[in-house]
Amino acid sequence: MALGKDYATQECSIARALEIVGERWTLLVVRDALYGVRRYNDFLVHLGIPRAVLAARLQTLTAEGILEKRRYQQSPPRDEYVPTERGIALWPTLRALGLWGREHFGETQLRYFRHADCGTELGPYGECPVCRTVVPIGDVVMEPGPGLDHDPADPVSRALLKPKRLLEPLEPEPA
Ligand SMILES: [Zn+2]
Repeated sequence: MALGKDYATQECSIARALEIVGERWTLLVVRDALYGVRRYNDFLVHLGIPRAVLAARLQTLTAEGILEKRRYQQSPPRDEYVPTERGIALWPTLRALGLWGREHFGETQLRYFRHADCGTELGPYGECPVCRTVVPIGDVVMEPGPGLDHDPADPVSRALLKPKRLLEPLEPEPA
């Protein structure tokens, strides 16, 4: 039987979600957007992704209401991509997926995600085990861990070395 291009025959919410976020690069674009990356060129240099692929993924993500395209400059026209509620709702999934990757594939910790109020590292679904609360994404502080390259070549990776809150727009230094 030929392998279909989609999961149309699957009556399953996971299959429905994977129709949107299961393509290569898509979840990494969402991850970067939650980290505060907003501009096309910043996604491009941070992901090292072919331009046509990035354009296609941004198109899908905006069409599906996961990112919102906003014009921030008129001439020349420049847009940025901002996570919507639907995009932000992927945060616990990404958090859990990241921990799964580290626990099962033995990676040194690349980043810490902490509750801004108390400094505790978040649990697997974005909760604070000390405050016993689900931490709103804007109260999550990300910091570099020991496994991260501390002298990266691209300006976006360099900007992400500074502790920052999720969603806070990233302002990379010009290359
Ligand atoms: Zn806390």
